[in-house]
Amino acid sequence: MSALKLELSNMTKRFGTTTALNQVSLAVRAGSVHALLGENGAGKSTLVKCLVGFYQPDEGAISVDGQLKQIASPKDADALGIGMVYQHFTLVPSMTIAENLIVSGAKLPKLIDWRRELERLTSITTTLPFSIDLNVRTSQLSAGEKQKAELIKQLYLGRRLLILDEPTSVLTPGEAEQVLGYVRELTESGRLSAILITHKFDEVRRYADDVTVLRRGAAVRSGPVNCLTNGQMAEAMIGAPLTQESGRRARPACKHNPVFTVRNLTVKGDIGLDAVKGLDLDINEGEIVGVAGVSGNGQMEMVEALMGQRDRIGEVKVRGTDFRGTRSEIASLGVYGLPQEPLKNACVPSMSLSENLALRNFDRAPLQKGIFLDRKALMEQAQHLVKQFKVKTGGLDSRMNTLSGGNVQRAVLGRELSQDVRVLIASNPTFGLDFLACEETHRRILEARNTGAGVLLVSEDLDELLSLVDRVVVMSAGRIVYEVSAEQAEKQVIGKYMAGESVN
Ligand code: ADP
Ligand code: MG
Repeated sequence: MSALKLELSNMTKRFGTTTALNQVSLAVRAGSVHALLGENGAGKSTLVKCLVGFYQPDEGAISVDGQLKQIASPKDADALGIGMVYQHFTLVPSMTIAENLIVSGAKLPKLIDWRRELERLTSITTTLPFSIDLNVRTSQLSAGEKQKAELIKQLYLGRRLLILDEPTSVLTPGEAEQVLGYVRELTESGRLSAILITHKFDEVRRYADDVTVLRRGAAVRSGPVNCLTNGQMAEAMIGAPLTQESGRRARPACKHNPVFTVRNLTVKGDIGLDAVKGLDLDINEGEIVGVAGVSGNGQMEMVEALMGQRDRIGEVKVRGTDFRGTRSEIASLGVYGLPQEPLKNACVPSMSLSENLALRNFDRAPLQKGIFLDRKALMEQAQHLVKQFKVKTGGLDSRMNTLSGGNVQRAVLGRELSQDVRVLIASNPTFGLDFLACEETHRRILEARNTGAGVLLVSEDLDELLSLVDRVVVMSAGRIVYEVSAEQAEKQVIGKYMAGESVN
């Protein structure tokens, strides 16, 4: 296996009237990791799909090791040694890893020499910096283990250029280091080249040699990572200078005045087993408590129970008053939420923007006059929020589901945070949002905290958590297994608890 040199020149790909890639040129040096950065819709996936033969570019050329090549189908990509580790998993759940890998070999003879193939597989796995049991059914693997198995599959298939599409979104920091660290080892030893799609600057710095930033289908900036600052990469991504206000907060001391207390919270998951097991938590005024954890460890059930959307056992109090999530309690106690996928979880998609902005207060003055809804007051409120929270829209009467993801989130931020917020419960609030909408969301969360709200922030993105919170708790198997102040937090330690390892 030896690393592949790849050059794209002036590649253009159109879908109808959309130009997904516009004259993109890019060079992946043999034995390097080339990061591909860009906002949602920038063209990253389209670019790599052209490389693995799923799409045909309309213009442009691809050369491999200095020779022009057509990649007309996945088979061609395969023959050139180009492969991709997908975000979703391609392994058959009922088979073991070994069975999966051996069956996936594209150039298989009709009869598989299992012993020989197993030996070959084992020779790959013995050089891995992590251990993995090839005889486990893949349905029993955690998300991180599946990602590792996908990587091993690609190595087993003898790839010379490996494309990784946001590989760390399902990994703990420790696993990310194992997986990407190993890829780096292979590139440095000249056995592999890699393209790493990511939106994390930290990962670009740590694991990539070169970076290309895509914006609206164009390669707007490219070069060795060492020659670019995070600020420059961010500006290239969004096409505008960064604002100063997106900086960090002043850090006033927490007042040790609990505004939200949870005692012995137990919540059943969808299949009737306890997903949250006797959880205790206090959030102080003016404090952000981050909940770290690999998804599926009870976070979702906890948030739903706290918001009154799921049955619970145990006690949830806001300033000493029992909270069950009724409409009147939400208003009187000031508990608001920023859910993941706000269009689905916090909006009525078929109703207008102005109506969605009124979902919290249509039944109160000034929107309600007598028994009637005051349309004029409703439109005025919408006008005001749209301006204040910079929602870009076709008009206040636009249906909610015609807005982009970032603008839906801005609208929900406006609606939830313009109330008198005492407690804010945010669950992966920036999931899938573009860079500017993420920044705006972070800024508004900090603002709520700085005006005295207690914030519970659940996020699978540990970098996001650590940049915002005052305190981190780690949730694993329905319990809080670790707690640390932001100042003393160490990613690797948190990662170990996330992985469910006991740490001494
Ligand atoms: P990224 O991976 O950077 O988020 P994509 O490559 O998925 O971006 O998309 C780039 C642009 O091309 C977007 O505007 C997207 O809507 C469009 N696009 C991607 N795939 C298709 C397709 N199969 N048909 C039509 N438009 C597409
Ligand atoms: Mg994509």
